[in-house]
Parts: sequence; C-alpha cells; structure tokens
Amino acid sequence: MSKTISILGSTGSIGTQAIEVAKKHNFKISALSANSNADILENQARELKPEYVCIYNEKYYKELKDNLADTSVKVLSGMDGLCTIASSKNCDTLVNSVVGMVGLLPTLTAIDAGTEIALANKETLVAGGKLVTESAEKKGVRILPIDSEHSAIFQCLQGNKREQLNKIILTASGGPFFNKKTDELENVTVADALNHPNWSMGSKITIDSATLMNKGLEFIEAKWLFDLEPDMIEIIVHRQSVIHSAVEYKDFSVIAQLGVPDMKIPIQYALLYPDRFECPTKQLSLTDYGTLTFEKPDYETFKCLSAAIKAIKTGGAYPCLVNSANEEAVKLFLEGKISFLKIGEIVSSVLDKFPYTEITSYDDVVKADQNARAYVMNMI
Ligand code: MG
Repeated sequence: MSKTISILGSTGSIGTQAIEVAKKHNFKISALSANSNADILENQARELKPEYVCIYNEKYYKELKDNLADTSVKVLSGMDGLCTIASSKNCDTLVNSVVGMVGLLPTLTAIDAGTEIALANKETLVAGGKLVTESAEKKGVRILPIDSEHSAIFQCLQGNKREQLNKIILTASGGPFFNKKTDELENVTVADALNHPNWSMGSKITIDSATLMNKGLEFIEAKWLFDLEPDMIEIIVHRQSVIHSAVEYKDFSVIAQLGVPDMKIPIQYALLYPDRFECPTKQLSLTDYGTLTFEKPDYETFKCLSAAIKAIKTGGAYPCLVNSANEEAVKLFLEGKISFLKIGEIVSSVLDKFPYTEITSYDDVVKADQNARAYVMNMI
C-alpha cells in the first residue's frame, strides 16, 4: 500500500508510534511537527526526509533551521507552519496528534483542503465538535479516530446499520486513583498522578486519566464522531483496558473490540482502514488476564468527569470552556502551583461562572478558549 501521510505532534507518544506504523507499511511521510522537541524533530527529519518540518514554539525555529540547512527539508514554525502542512495537497492522511486546542485550526484547514484526518487530538472535537463535523460532512472528508476507545467503537460499527444502534459503552481504566475518595486525594503528588496503571502516554493525557477528565473529553468526542445523543453513551470502568469499548444494538447484542493496550493497533487501523495487517505489537492472550472486571465510575469524587458530561448536555460553548479550563489547570498542577483536587474544582466552576453562549465560528471557539484561560489564571 502506497500512502503519503503528515504527522502533527510527531515527537510525542502517538506521533512516534505512528512513525513506527508508517515505516512498517512503507508509507511516505511528507511533513512532521513538534511543539518544542527540536532535537528529536531534527533526527526524525534526517531519517524520514519529509518535505516540511514545523516547530510550533518559535524559540527553537532558528536553531532548527540552521541545523537542517544541509538538507532539503523546509523548516516552518508556529500556527502558520502547522496550517501550511495541513493545507498541503501532497498528503493522503493528516495524523493530528498535537496536545490541546492548538490542534483545532490545523484540523479545520486539512478538512478545507479535502485531506482525510486520523485524529488523536481529542481537544479538537471537544472544543470545536460542531464546526469540525459539519465542515467534514460538507467537504466529504473522513475523520478516522485514533483514540483507542473511539477506534473500538468505529470498528464495532462496521457492517451494521447505524440506525439500529442502541448505545455505546465507553470503557475507562479508572486511572491510578480508582476507588480513592476525595479525602485520600488531598495530598496527591505530580509523580503519583503520572503513574498510569496500563497506558504509557504524554503528561497532559496521563493527568487527564487520573482526574477522569480524559473520559469526559472522550464522552464529548464520541458524541461528535458518531453523532450520538449524550444519553446513548454509557461509561464503564474496566481496569484491565483489554476491552477498548463496545456498542449495543437494538437486539441487545453487544459487540466489543479487544486487544492489548497498545496504541499502535488503533493508529494502524486508522492509517490502513479498512484493511488489517499484522501490527508491530503483542497478540492478546485472554488467559494471561484470566479475569476482566467492570464497575461504575465515581462521579462524586471525579468532578472533571461529571463537569464534562454536564457541559456537553448543556451544549453551546461549555465543552470548549471546560476543556480550556482543564488545560490551564493541568498545566498549573504539573508546575506544582495547585493541588490535584483543585483541577476538578476549577473545571466544574466554569459551568456556573459562564453564561450560555453559542459556537457558530472558529472565532467563537477562540473567544471561549481565551475567556476560560483568563478566568483560571485570575483564580490563582
Ligand atoms: Mg482513550
């Protein structure tokens, strides 16, 4: 299979695994980008010889450009650089695995260029779900999910009638603090929160997994990707992360997708869809696990989860507001400036603090994003 892909966020956890999958299947890579990992990006550029690389943080631009001067790679920077890559016609699939709201404009730009998107950047759909899905539909652009749960749901939907779907069952690992109550979470350190039981991921998403905000964001992401009413989405805590999610049809048949917890499986499915070839990972052995468990999430303790669900049920700018407040709160927690529990308090408080507003344009998203971030910074 000959395919050309670009990867935004190529030095992160998803990006490096996407490169591994691309190399296994001899894909051509036309562009790569990183936020600030200039050294890794330079090495990737030398090895993979893309047309473009983009370093988002301008601080590293000059040095990277000088370092790559002996190559034919064109060096870009900032949001303009990401959008130059996203608008390139020389790309079959854009892998968007940047962290945060930053991914939204490149996603919209790629859709406008008619380029298929393999989406790992969940904040894109959380903040701008309506804009993204409407423009993708208008342009006939396919958005293939990379998130393991959404890939599972997407796989379980193949070959069935969408109108015969009852609900989806979104599985959650429960994170490192499963079964802990609020008083036990008061003194959680950054190191505790970064210690995820099953998945090895970047720091933003690992903290989101510890607060269960990640599941809240995935709830919103699922609503947009699969055009669901919020009451068609059920969250179940499944500690082993073997069942990546499931769907229930009208006849009460439940179809699930299983596999070892390795992102290369959903990445490869998005990049090879609808084909399936051997993936560079381990095979699942169910007898190694023996027991799979299922429990209800604790919406009281994990306030981010209930806030995210409330945000999408209320609609308008609320999903964007909770997402941006969360991005700022996670940054503050990682910097040691706020406690772990404060993240949930901050994220929930935007629901009361902000009046309902509609999102009808990219500018509306930007405005809501800035308001939420300013609100969090003023609290500290
Ligand atoms: Mg996930």
